Amino acid sequence: MHRLVFLGPPGAGKGTQAAELATSLGLLHLSTGQLLRSAAAEKSRLGLQADRYMRAGQLVPDELVLGILKSNLARPKARAGFILDGFPRTLPQAEALEQITPIETVISFEIPESMLVERLTQRWSCPACGTVYNLATKPPRTPGQCDREGAALVHRADDEPAAVRTRLKVYHDQTAPLLDYYQRKGRLHPIDASGDVASVGRRLREAIGLAGSSAVPSAAASPTQGL
Ligand code: ADP
Ligand code: AMP
Repeated sequence: MHRLVFLGPPGAGKGTQAAELATSLGLLHLSTGQLLRSAAAEKSRLGLQADRYMRAGQLVPDELVLGILKSNLARPKARAGFILDGFPRTLPQAEALEQITPIETVISFEIPESMLVERLTQRWSCPACGTVYNLATKPPRTPGQCDREGAALVHRADDEPAAVRTRLKVYHDQTAPLLDYYQRKGRLHPIDASGDVASVGRRLREAIGLAGSSAVPSAAASPTQGL
C-alpha cells in the first residue's frame, strides 16, 4: 500500500502529479489546500476561519488543518493508500502525522524558484472539479473553460504576485525544515520537478519503485478527486 507525502514549494507540480498518480494507482489524493478552499467556498466555520490566512498566503493554524486531515484520512477510500499533497507543512504537523498513520515515502519536488512564479501566475483551475490548467503549458481546449465540466476557470487570489512572494517565504521558513526531518528518517526521495509533466511523472514513478509501468494518459486523469 502506498502512503505518500508530496513535499515541495507552491507551484512545483505536486497537485498535478498527485492527481495523475492517484487515478492510476487508485489512491486517495488529499490536498489540504483544496479541502480548505472547498470549506471556504461552502462558508463553513472552518472555511471562514481558514480563508483570511489563505488569501494572505500564510499557513492556516495547525489545529484547523489537522482536524480536516484526520477526518479525511478516516474515509474508507484511504484504506487503499493515499497521497498527501501540501501536508505536512510544519514540524508540529509532521510530528502529529506520525501519531496518525505511518508514512513510508516522502517525495521532495526540487525546482528552481524562478520557474515557480511563472507557473503560479499562469495557473487557472476549475471551481467545480479542481482540475488544474496552465495557460502556457496545459491550456484548456476552449479558452477559459474546464475541459471536463465546461465551468468558467478561476485564478486563485493567492496566485497573485504579492501572495506568491509571501508563500515562497513561508515555504522556506516553515516547510523546508521538513526536508531535513524526513532525510534523517531515511524516507526522503528527491526528484527533479523541472521539465514537462510526463518526464516528472516518470521520475516520480521511478522514485516510488514503479519504473517501467506506464501512467494513464493525462486527459483521463482525475482532478483533485475524492475531496
Ligand atoms: P502545486 O500543487 O505544487 O502548487 P500544481 O500542480 O498546481 O503545483 O502546478 C502549478 C502550475 O504549474 C499549474 O498551472 C500546472 O498546470 C503547472 N505545471 C505542473 N507541472 C508542470 C510541469 N512539469 N511543467 C510545466 N507546468 C507544470
Ligand atoms: P496549496 O493548495 O497547497 O497551495 O495551499 C493553499 C493554502 O492553503 C496555503 O497557502 C495555506 O494557506 C493553506 N494550507 C494548505 N495546506 C496547509 C497546511 N498543511 N498547513 C497550513 N496551511 C495549509
